[in-house]
Amino acid sequence: MKKIYVIHTGGTIGMEKTQDETIELQNEHPLFKQNHLNAHIIHHQLFHLPSPHMTPKKMLKLRNHIAEKAADFDGFVITHGTDTLEETAYFLKLTLPIKKPVILTGAMRPINEVGSDALYNFNSALLVALSDRPNLSDIFVVMDGEIHDPSYVTKVHTTRIGAFQSPNSGPIALLTKQGISLLHQPLLERKYFISNVDQEVILLKAYTGMCPNVLTSLLDLKINGLVLEAFGQGNIPSTIAIELEKFLQRNIPILLVSRCPQGIVEANYNYIGGGKYLQKQGVLFSNGLNGPKARLKLSILLSNHIPYQQLQSHFISS
Ligand code: ASP
Repeated sequence: MKKIYVIHTGGTIGMEKTQDETIELQNEHPLFKQNHLNAHIIHHQLFHLPSPHMTPKKMLKLRNHIAEKAADFDGFVITHGTDTLEETAYFLKLTLPIKKPVILTGAMRPINEVGSDALYNFNSALLVALSDRPNLSDIFVVMDGEIHDPSYVTKVHTTRIGAFQSPNSGPIALLTKQGISLLHQPLLERKYFISNVDQEVILLKAYTGMCPNVLTSLLDLKINGLVLEAFGQGNIPSTIAIELEKFLQRNIPILLVSRCPQGIVEANYNYIGGGKYLQKQGVLFSNGLNGPKARLKLSILLSNHIPYQQLQSHFISS
């Protein structure tokens, strides 16, 4: 019988609706006694947190815990709050070299609410963790009957059960009554060494009329990197573009992602603040990652002391 290690971290999937209609974490995890499959399931509660309280340090602790247990189990399921699930999944994808399924899941509605997705998602995640598909022996997100690649999956709705999508690629597979139906291969990402998460990388979203002081005030914070969520194909206001020079002179890498949920940033426009202009300044371009994930990746690259000139090559799709 296969052995699956379930690590609970908190989130709605570990909560129940109370009599006064609030949703709260319970002392005993509501999934502890759930096993509808022919598998040996060990539960472990590593954290008991709403996922807005998740941090890269805790992601590292989770990563190290899975690495320690890797040899003893056939697969892993991680239950997690949906708000930041995509960040933890992507952190694990970048830093956990493992040839076994590590499946993250959560719930939009607690287990005792009408129409809850908690048991369905948990059961689906276990099914994927138990599968023998070699292309699923890595980190994946399972929500609402779909398997998503952590590189692209994102929470797109505040309350809907089908709150997770991969806007650039769609899910990599569907869970059907017959089994798993693979739609396409996940993006191959290099695995990186990680021993600490002490790099201060800031994420800023561009908006019209953005005040350049927002940017310059960051120089006092001694940041290690900056991710800018730019307009469209990778363009920003001219007033901001001019200020970026001060960061680049201090060797602080600046990485562009787009505010658009689909597509990638490219160096096409040559006006002040246009992508071509920014590329000539030395700004880096990401490959379809969203802001929070690009921020995590840049901080992991910086903690590996990858020199500025080589950073761009880590954001080219394989
Ligand atoms: N706020 C909750 C969390 O992320 C939402 C959820 O789990 O769905 O912990």
